[in-house]
Amino acid sequence: MANVHNWHLGRDAEYPYDARFPERQFAFVFNINRCIACQSCTMACKSTWTFSKGQEHMWWANVETKPYGGYPQSWDMKILQKLEESNPGGQIWSRGNGGQARNPYGRFEGETIFEAAKHTFDPESARVLGYLPTDEEWNSPNIWEDNPLGKRGKRDQLDKEGTELPTHKTWFFYLARICNHCSYPACLAACPRKAIYKRPEDGIVLIDQKECRGYRKCVEACPYKKSMYRGNTRVSEKCVACYPRVAGTDPESGGQPMETRCMAACIGQIRMQGLVKLDRDGSWATDRQHPLYYLVHVAKVALPLYPQLGTQPNGYYIPPSWVPRPYLRQMFGPGVDQALDNYAVPDRELLGVLQLFRRSNLIIYRYEIEEGPMIYEGMRSGKPYKLYNDTVIAFGREGQEIFRTTIEEPVYVRPREHANSI
Ligand code: SF4
Ligand code: SF4
Ligand code: SF4
Repeated sequence: MANVHNWHLGRDAEYPYDARFPERQFAFVFNINRCIACQSCTMACKSTWTFSKGQEHMWWANVETKPYGGYPQSWDMKILQKLEESNPGGQIWSRGNGGQARNPYGRFEGETIFEAAKHTFDPESARVLGYLPTDEEWNSPNIWEDNPLGKRGKRDQLDKEGTELPTHKTWFFYLARICNHCSYPACLAACPRKAIYKRPEDGIVLIDQKECRGYRKCVEACPYKKSMYRGNTRVSEKCVACYPRVAGTDPESGGQPMETRCMAACIGQIRMQGLVKLDRDGSWATDRQHPLYYLVHVAKVALPLYPQLGTQPNGYYIPPSWVPRPYLRQMFGPGVDQALDNYAVPDRELLGVLQLFRRSNLIIYRYEIEEGPMIYEGMRSGKPYKLYNDTVIAFGREGQEIFRTTIEEPVYVRPREHANSI
């Protein structure tokens, strides 16, 4: 095992291989306050990549209803339970000196799936703590959709008291997921054939279909269960991050880096994807005007999914504001309270950056904000609040302007003679 720096955990961590990082890393932010589970993302991926024979059970993009839903079923509870059994009572965070770029969430004192594997398995035979889901667990990607949390210990009973603001007693939310193209991929670490690799240009994790022999070690190891086995070809497959679009080689892209199919199809406009600059230790290099850098490191509203697993995933989530905090802290780590406070009363810049989601299919590399007049003054979440009609401008790889948009949506009044037409 090598020692690598994991900035999500605020410490060095063990990984089977030495660290090596791309210049820019594929990453994304999902604002799950806005997801409506329309499954357009799910179907965009399905109709592009997994519509063939043998792929019927594969949903590289999926949206599951938490707390009960999961694809495969209970994937997160199962791996968390295995870690707890391996390190009873030890899976905890200490805030310590958190808040810096190398340890924004404090320090994770527990064991990752790589560290726990050392005393759970024979180290010669397995490098990652994991499990292989059963066929039944892959069968119902939409199970428990729209089912809220009920009363503890009472099946199918809602809590009639409703809310305890700011959180709800009866709650659910939609968790949209794809492969996280992790910085320390468990799938890659576990592959005995070395058939899985991380592209040096964008950090996208791919399975070499000619090298794979279908041992399913990646399926077992990926804690997010985003590597899947295909029975008729006897090899494993996973999300390819729509790499021809990201690389700008898709005919539709006109040579410019383009967001993936699942991002571009998002009806709720919850998704933004980008390519972030990395430092030599895998931390994000300072890039103040990059929208993802801003959301993760400056506004601190977007958090990694289950960072304690140790793969340093490159998917980030703005947590749902109505969900009880202990559940969210388990899922997104100790940064949840600050993220939700900042999101509840967004400052001028955050409100501007939130307008960038899904205005274009091209990947945004930089943004600027031009200040506009005040358009509202009042209270928000018990605090005085002023709203300004600023203009936010997005720029592409070559520094070209992609689009500009304002905080206030424009109002179009149809002429009287065309009242019922566009
Ligand atoms: S999410 Fe899973 S499949 Fe994707 S890179 Fe990470 S470990 Fe591999
Ligand atoms: S990035 Fe592309 S391949 Fe991956 S889940 Fe989204 S649509 Fe599917
Ligand atoms: S398309 Fe967007 S809003 Fe619809 S389910 Fe997917 S992530 Fe949610």
